Amino acid sequence: MADRQQSSPLAHDTDYACALNLGELNAHLIAGMSSWQRLDVCPVCDSQSVARFATCRHFPYSRCRACGFTFANPVPPNEVLDAFYNSPFYRNYRRLEANRIARDHYFSISMYTDMHRLASWLGGDQALNILDFGCGPGAFLALLRDEFGFTNVEGLELSQVSVEFARQHYGLTVASSTAELQRQSYDCVILIEVIEHLPNPAAIFSQLTKLVRPGGHLLITTPAVDNLLGRFFPSLCLHYTAPSHVSLFTKQSLANLLSRFGFEIERIETDACFPALDRAAMSLAYDLDFASPQHDDDNNDALYTPNRVGRLLGFQPRRSAAKGRFGRALQKADQFLMHHMWWRVPRVPKTDHLYVLARKGV
Ligand SMILES: [Zn+2]
Repeated sequence: MADRQQSSPLAHDTDYACALNLGELNAHLIAGMSSWQRLDVCPVCDSQSVARFATCRHFPYSRCRACGFTFANPVPPNEVLDAFYNSPFYRNYRRLEANRIARDHYFSISMYTDMHRLASWLGGDQALNILDFGCGPGAFLALLRDEFGFTNVEGLELSQVSVEFARQHYGLTVASSTAELQRQSYDCVILIEVIEHLPNPAAIFSQLTKLVRPGGHLLITTPAVDNLLGRFFPSLCLHYTAPSHVSLFTKQSLANLLSRFGFEIERIETDACFPALDRAAMSLAYDLDFASPQHDDDNNDALYTPNRVGRLLGFQPRRSAAKGRFGRALQKADQFLMHHMWWRVPRVPKTDHLYVLARKGV
């Protein structure tokens, strides 16, 4: 009975697996790192000006001085990525997503902006052929179909559990490989929080851009590292979660990648705020790590583990940076700086997330 429940992607199973923190898991995953491929050239813009940047939870990142693209280097091979995506650490995210969708129909752990706003970017032509590349359990596609009236929506997803979920729960058409896709090209291909997971985004782009018809669109969301923490204090930035996030973009590097494949950016937005002060204050007594979900509402994976100072003070691990009156005051100060100061200071990087609609040349 327990086995049957666990094997069904629709089962409401609150039994989250006991999982190592990301730092602890990575200590195992890097065992063969000396044999991994090391890149001396930027995989996005081909610049040879690539420098070591930082090591976050055992994974070294390099940064391209020309375009700012920041990537796990040496590049974790497929067997390491497979081990990660099949680990209890990662499976808990899929479990949380399935459990949350049971009570919140369009829940998506990958959506950092209002889904309806993003969907409105696609315009009003309900006959568009839309492919969600890496659709996960399919919430965004279901929203496009059910709330926006798009009738020709299809998903592509590698996780078999998510493919089954999207088919059974939402009744979506979902392929598990490009060979299974219903069409050879689409009016719009969607990549929501996908490209940061690809060890060689340019190689995948050469395939996936063929799936966009001339004059068609790509809709992309991805974390961005051209902000104060991402650029100068990576140990405090939530985006450096290799082997999950192995390719981190800046506005410039994403624009370069799109232009290389014949796309022109039509619309680009970023988040209104990024926290820096509360993370900086936390870093005095805590190290940042990541913990996988332990219950259905646990979608804040940042884990602050007391460092030497914190241990001396008797602090306990925390799942959130901004807590209590002091944390909220720092958040307000962040918002104030963001709205009134940092926007006005030239050369201070401010982008925490990118939302991009790009059109393919005809
Ligand atoms: Zn580059």
